[in-house]
Amino acid sequence: MGKCIVILGGGTGGLVVANRLRGALSRDNDIVLIDKEKNHLFNPSLLWLMVGWREEEKIQKPLSFLERKGIRFINALVQKIDFENRTVLTSQGDFSFDYLVIALGASTFPAEILGFLEDAFNLYDLSGAKNIKKAIENFDKGRIVILITSTPFKCPAAPYEAALILSGYFNKRQRDVEIEIVTPEPLPMPVAGQEVGNMVVSLLQSRRIRFTPQYQVVKIDPANKEILFQDEKKLSYDFLIGIPPHGLPPVLKDSPILGESRWVKVNQRTLETDLENVYALGDVTAIPLTVGKPLPKAGVFAHSQAEVVAYNI
Ligand SMILES: Cc1cc2nc3c(=O)[nH]c(=O)nc-3n(C[C@H](O)[C@H](O)[C@H](O)COP(=O)(O)OP(=O)(O)OC[C@H]3O[C@@H](n4cnc5c(N)ncnc54)[C@H](O)[C@@H]3O)c2cc1C
Repeated sequence: MGKCIVILGGGTGGLVVANRLRGALSRDNDIVLIDKEKNHLFNPSLLWLMVGWREEEKIQKPLSFLERKGIRFINALVQKIDFENRTVLTSQGDFSFDYLVIALGASTFPAEILGFLEDAFNLYDLSGAKNIKKAIENFDKGRIVILITSTPFKCPAAPYEAALILSGYFNKRQRDVEIEIVTPEPLPMPVAGQEVGNMVVSLLQSRRIRFTPQYQVVKIDPANKEILFQDEKKLSYDFLIGIPPHGLPPVLKDSPILGESRWVKVNQRTLETDLENVYALGDVTAIPLTVGKPLPKAGVFAHSQAEVVAYNI
């Protein structure tokens, strides 16, 4: 008798698992993918959308295309996972599973930083990137601050890449714009080591982008256009681009599969959680590396992990 495999999340990892399994399993095995969004959004292209190098419709694809491949797509919010009864409860009904793949990614919580929603452009969502595009068209002069609010965040390189892309955008237009990137990290992309971090800093400096490490934001003061940091440090801005705090998707809060990191704990080799036939991959997991830091949250890893999960199922 066929089995039912339920995949939570139609982002980078979820899509790869679904496609690999559909290619490998006979049709009496049911593959169901559930996502709260109607479209898959290719996040790396948000940086290109921000400066007009990509159009919105070119970086999204309706998840309903999965149906044509024999994968059932359910557009619903996952509200609860009942691990005991092996059932997922959603806004569109309940789904029982033989195998479960959790690929819900990392959620972002901009409201956790006072003033963020009011005055920061969110680089990490579609409407934020679209708003940046509109606003920079008329930004002729002043200070742009790119603020990393906390770690970990998706794609350790993305804020630095954004700074370089914006610097190119303004230089080309010969505008008098200063860019500063502020982060609680000691160096860009610390997981890649000191040498790589120093190279990124040199690259930023060669474009006159100021790098300000080890600044932990406390709140944003939109009235005075100021960011307040720990140790009473302050910085002013004219235009603020923010990377919001990241965390576990709320549906997994208090779930039995979390590790000490408060992200999902998996067997590093199989990507199975402590529960049999329940797998997790991508940004929702925390995988410790020998360098003492977790594997970064990046699509390139989610993709490869999805291959491992599909193989094991
Ligand atoms: C601006 C930016 C640039 C980036 N650039 C790169 C890059 O160059 N290279 C790289 O490797 N990575 C990059 N990344 C990171 C990459 O996009 C993520 O690491 C990757 O998408 C993680 O894949 P995932 O499958 O774990 O989660 P995601 O792709 O985030 O997918 C999670 C899915 O779960 C859904 N979901 C969440 N909660 C629920 C719920 N309760 N109910 C139903 N559905 C839910 C979401 O809607 C989403 O579709 C970038 C990210 C950003 C934001």
